[in-house]
Amino acid sequence: MMDPKSFKAVAIRSPRGAKLTEIDWADGHKATYPHELLRGYCPCAGCQGHSGEIKFIAPAPHQLEIDRFEGVGRYALQIVWFDGHDTGLYSYKYLRSLCQCAACAGSSEAAAHRPVSRA
Ligand SMILES: [Zn+2]
Ligand SMILES: [Zn+2]
Repeated sequence: MMDPKSFKAVAIRSPRGAKLTEIDWADGHKATYPHELLRGYCPCAGCQGHSGEIKFIAPAPHQLEIDRFEGVGRYALQIVWFDGHDTGLYSYKYLRSLCQCAACAGSSEAAAHRPVSRA
């Protein structure tokens, strides 16, 4: 099982205008998330419907800018997008599973259907 620290974010950096957000995790891991990934995997019912399975939904170019993050309890982060979309609640566990780095590859639930990195 993963260390609970793997699911605790200690710092979030998302410079205005950037298309990337960096999250430092309490276990020392630094993850970088392209906004295309975050938006494409928005877990809200509006984006994902009610099928239960999270899938990547390619966002439009104007949907890639983040306005701000709001903490939701200790377990999740709400992402408020610049186009007004704010219904996505990303649990830290879910966010961690979206990390695309080599260290996380293959160890997450999202690995099987994560998009190819464009970096
Ligand atoms: Zn959504
Ligand atoms: Zn990682």
